[in-house]
Amino acid sequence: MPCRSSEELDGLVREAKKVTKHGKVANYIPALQKGNRDDLSVAIYHADGTCLSAGDIEQKITLQSISKVLSLALALMDCGEECVFNKVGYEPTGDPFNSIIKLETNHSRKPLNPMINAGALAVTHLIKGVNVEERLERLISFIRDLAGHNVITYSLEVAQSEFETAFLNRSLCYYMKQDGIIDEDVEDLLDLYTKQCAIEMDCLDLARIGLVFAMNGFDPVREKQIIPVEVARLCKTFMVTCGMYNASGEFAIRVGIPAKSGVSGGIMGAVRNRFGIGIFGPALDEKGNSIGGIEFLEMLSKRYELSIF
Ligand code: GLN
Repeated sequence: MPCRSSEELDGLVREAKKVTKHGKVANYIPALQKGNRDDLSVAIYHADGTCLSAGDIEQKITLQSISKVLSLALALMDCGEECVFNKVGYEPTGDPFNSIIKLETNHSRKPLNPMINAGALAVTHLIKGVNVEERLERLISFIRDLAGHNVITYSLEVAQSEFETAFLNRSLCYYMKQDGIIDEDVEDLLDLYTKQCAIEMDCLDLARIGLVFAMNGFDPVREKQIIPVEVARLCKTFMVTCGMYNASGEFAIRVGIPAKSGVSGGIMGAVRNRFGIGIFGPALDEKGNSIGGIEFLEMLSKRYELSIF
């Protein structure tokens, strides 16, 4: 059984940490600059309910782009596949996650996929509720259900910091409003999206949510199907094709585990029928992925032959 001992996990994390000096902490969201470049923590949540961790596991991280998988799952459960893919496509892009270029050049005008910012904004737009508060509350309770406890909330500081500086995301919204992809007030959507990205948890929670995806939407700890199998399958497919932004191809070759990253330095991974992985390492590579996190996953995947390919 792979990675059952803490010493082994500690060893892999220590080894992976060596590359963090080559990364940079995100600074375009001012509050994220507080992250410590040398941190790297990892949790693994097995299907039998046992966990393993290394590093500062108490530390909370904001989900940032990892939240895009969770909002996609909720929107698919809220509105169904047809409605969601009416607004957003299925294809990876070779562009950075916040690029605006394809919104103008792509003939359908739809954002290419739900993992880039434009696509995620279009998906968040679909979350049901009478106002921003209710939609956020529904998303947070869904995430609490996935993590198996009730104390998850969002960081107001990080949400505000992003809201005040989200000029590019505002522009993406205005493009999409012009093209009829979204029809709500842009400030409302930005309010919801920045709070969604600022939802906080520790690596263990992240690993537990990864486990639910690994088990095709089933929480083996509480023996409960939280996400329909088909929705979990769709989300995991996007994790493989677009989860690591425009580095997803290289990641598929080097690691081959369905995963989603965020600019806070988080990565959530799902090893089919076996375990979920939660990583926090704020030093990012040039594509915006946790540099230590990817190094760790590559070592883990090679050692235990975890690639799906
Ligand atoms: N909140 C971030 C943004 O929209 C999320 C991006 C990311 O994690 N890559 O810019």
